[in-house]
Amino acid sequence: YNQLQLALTMLIDAYGRIVNYLRISITDRCDLRCTYCIPKGFHEFEKPEHWLSLDEIERVVRQFAAMGTRRFRLTGGEPLLRKGIVELVTRLKRIDGVEDLSLSTNATQLQHFAHDLRRAGLDRLNVSLDSLSRHGIEKITGFDAKAKVMAGLQAASDAGFVNTKINMVPLQGINDSEIDDMVAFCIKHQFILRLIELMPMGASAQQHQHLDLQPIIARISEQFQLIPSQKTYGGGPARYWQSQDGNFSMGYITPMSQHFCQTCNRVRMAVDGTLYMCLGQEHQYALAPLLKKEVSDADLQAAIQAAIHLKPLQHTFNEEPKKIVRIMSMTGG
Ligand code: SAM
Repeated sequence: YNQLQLALTMLIDAYGRIVNYLRISITDRCDLRCTYCIPKGFHEFEKPEHWLSLDEIERVVRQFAAMGTRRFRLTGGEPLLRKGIVELVTRLKRIDGVEDLSLSTNATQLQHFAHDLRRAGLDRLNVSLDSLSRHGIEKITGFDAKAKVMAGLQAASDAGFVNTKINMVPLQGINDSEIDDMVAFCIKHQFILRLIELMPMGASAQQHQHLDLQPIIARISEQFQLIPSQKTYGGGPARYWQSQDGNFSMGYITPMSQHFCQTCNRVRMAVDGTLYMCLGQEHQYALAPLLKKEVSDADLQAAIQAAIHLKPLQHTFNEEPKKIVRIMSMTGG
């Protein structure tokens, strides 16, 4: 009966894609100012009175889980800036159906949280790191953050996190010469490396030149003798390559040069409870009014179903590169 019930409530969009992954932004604020994300001097952050409370976030997760969603990620902004993050992880991990709960972080605060997050049941960590040099990190993020980030990565390993992913966004003429160093760093520390193509979200990202990862994939694979891998590490859109001995893996996420919209399985919730159906389109659905009215679970689930039906077929970043004015931290990266 449970299986049948689940099959009936599963989230399926208008194009037949099953949505089973929710990314939750728990703050749109960040302690860094990466050149392609939050512009310096930006202050249009969501007002605290519009943030979903931890109770409301938990309630939304419960509904998604009841409708077959098994993977959840906390992100932002920088999620470690949100008060109560450890408690939230504890509460979400207790929900039936939450099988995989992960977190994306810039790691500046991770040394203070890694152990507690692990104990609270967090399954996996993604750490964003675009450079290994002190100068490079400062140039991209606006802060001399290298020591803190390295301490955060060490704390994560000490706390027992394995298969931690390092996410790097290669930028033309800025850090694209550092990719080889990043590969060597990840081999040494047993991190999974992912290179992600920059998407033109907001003026900050649109000011950067487009960088196609395809030639880089070919070059790195040859240089480090990597072979195509069947691994998926959580079922995201990255295509993986691995070393001959299988000890090192790296993946590529190529929304621009080879998009994967036909297999998109995710939606995102911003800190104000707005569901965004696609990073590259405006389709959205505000859950906050329903949460404030304390509607029934059935009504909330019906609203989520309706939202999923708005999910567009694909992004049009290549055709309309100036269309999206939302920066990544507003939607939740
Ligand atoms: N602060 C956390 C972190 O650093 O991982 C979570 C949020 S951050 C917005 C998530 C990821 O989005 C980072 O890896 C960042 O590099 C990436 N990102 C931001 N803007 C992007 C863009 N326009 N295109 C592709 N990735 C972007």
